[in-house]
Amino acid sequence: MDDRSPQGDRPPSVPLTAIELRQRWLALQDEIVDSGGDLDRVRVVAVTKTFPAAVAELALEVGLIDLGENYGQELESKSVEVAEWVSRHPRIEPPRWHFIGGLQRNKVKRIADCVALWQTVDRADLADEIARRAPQAAILVQVNTTDEVQKSGCGPAETARLVDHARRQGLDVQGLMTIGPTDGSDPRPAFARLRKLADELGLVDCSMGMSGDVAAAVSEGSTMVRVGTRLFGNRSPRGTIS
Ligand SMILES: *Cc1c(COP(=O)(O)O)cnc(C)c1O
Repeated sequence: MDDRSPQGDRPPSVPLTAIELRQRWLALQDEIVDSGGDLDRVRVVAVTKTFPAAVAELALEVGLIDLGENYGQELESKSVEVAEWVSRHPRIEPPRWHFIGGLQRNKVKRIADCVALWQTVDRADLADEIARRAPQAAILVQVNTTDEVQKSGCGPAETARLVDHARRQGLDVQGLMTIGPTDGSDPRPAFARLRKLADELGLVDCSMGMSGDVAAAVSEGSTMVRVGTRLFGNRSPRGTIS
């Protein structure tokens, strides 16, 4: 059965079909609603990291607009490829790229033109560099809400100061972002902690919840879930995608 896009230029290397992707997105929307979320307030960021540009294009075809990437170089090349594809498909809205990975200062410049929301700002020097390369950019401050030592994110106690600092650099701080516990424990306390912190700082957005913990995140007040596997299937290890 050929249920691929009407454009008909989908390379055969993409096993996922638009119908499947749409079904998975609908199931995700159901879960968001069942967890007390309002679909107008909870944005789905479709995480396309490690997948080829064709997968991002499929996401755009079914109406997913917010796309998340973790690696600077990958975003750089994929965004160019996708933009070229969008220019040939006038019906399709261009994506909003979210940068959700660990970010080094020296990588900011190369992706500054394509990032719509920088979700992982966790230190002052990074905020400074983003402000320099992408003045007035929209950002989220990443917070380590689980006190795991190896995890990125500023400490909850430092968050207010970093938010202030970023604002003084002219950045548009739209909210906070966190990653739930990586040890499989109940993610709710971490998510509740982020929501409370955002509320105290008068920030609207809380980017929290991934494939495995969407329901918990939404019930704790997430406004943005970052979902890869549940939409696109399992990722191959980094580096094997051409
Ligand atoms: C990879 C990644 C995601 C998506 O993870 P899934 O479990 O595939 O949904 C979300 N957020 C961040 C920061 C990630 O690195």
